[in-house]
Amino acid sequence: MKAAVLRKPREPLSIEDVKTPRPGFGEVLVEVKACGLCHSDLHFMDGVRRTGKLPIILGHEAAGVVVEVGEGVTEVEVGDRVAIEYYFTCGRCRYCRTGNENLCENILRFGMDVDGAFAEYAKAPARNVVKVPGSVSMVDAAVSTDAVATPYHALRYVGELRGGEWLVVYGIGGLGVHAVQIGKLFGANVVAVDVLEEKLGLARRYGADYTVNASEVDPVEEVRAITGGGADVAIDLAGRVKTVEYAVKSVRSLGRVVCVGFPPEPVPIDVSDVIVRKVVIKGSRGLRHTDLEEVLSLVAKGVVKPVVSHRFRLEEINEGYERLRKGELIRGVVVYG
Ligand code: ZN
Repeated sequence: MKAAVLRKPREPLSIEDVKTPRPGFGEVLVEVKACGLCHSDLHFMDGVRRTGKLPIILGHEAAGVVVEVGEGVTEVEVGDRVAIEYYFTCGRCRYCRTGNENLCENILRFGMDVDGAFAEYAKAPARNVVKVPGSVSMVDAAVSTDAVATPYHALRYVGELRGGEWLVVYGIGGLGVHAVQIGKLFGANVVAVDVLEEKLGLARRYGADYTVNASEVDPVEEVRAITGGGADVAIDLAGRVKTVEYAVKSVRSLGRVVCVGFPPEPVPIDVSDVIVRKVVIKGSRGLRHTDLEEVLSLVAKGVVKPVVSHRFRLEEINEGYERLRKGELIRGVVVYG
């Protein structure tokens, strides 16, 4: 099969013919139909974060059709349309047993520790795929597995965002544009912050009540003014030292800050925010099986709309990542067949 392989950091992905995987016990083989281009892949390509092995097939935001099932698989059948959770979990450790499988002690990250879906076929444990409702396209299902489900888990279960609250979203990219929609769906007032007018326009199109251009004004002062003293919840998706600092300063006392983006270096935190203002700073990691089920059901209902700005063929993947690096894509997707 054809695949895009990361052989070494700081080299383009190599498009090559590799052996098609076979599903083992409890696994399924999926003919990939769509796989999203995610900013976190750039960290692996740049050598800033490390993959579990090299060479590796990247691509963790995928959906496709089951074409083969291994022994012992009862959850899905050949022909099922599925979305792949990008955390492969053991189902046996204390975190899996308590519904926190995104913290699984034996986690294997799809497209990061094991081969992913920038390939014609990918294998996954049957436990870690979710059937896709008939009305949801394969492209929308692929984007749902990370760009929609990650902010969904972060806002609903980590930030515990409630109706009537103020949410501020730092970073309107592939995740941010969905964070805005999810915030509105939960009944929050949403402020979107970015440095590009084009992205702020996108945030407004998807429901943001207010937008703040951080290259023109002090976003902390602006958010405090708009919200009358500070937001209830701030989510950082930009993953910059500055945006995390802004997020902490722009929530009210008792406000919740949810960190999702990975800053390139440690972030200094003013502990007086935590002591005096009792700000709660939490991290949110990926998603759980039930989050993806819930997200796909919301997408099927049409209340969350996955945003896909560009489509590429597998052969065009390096061009896609270059354009993602330049900030030209909201969400690009490799489409197969
Ligand atoms: Zn586990």
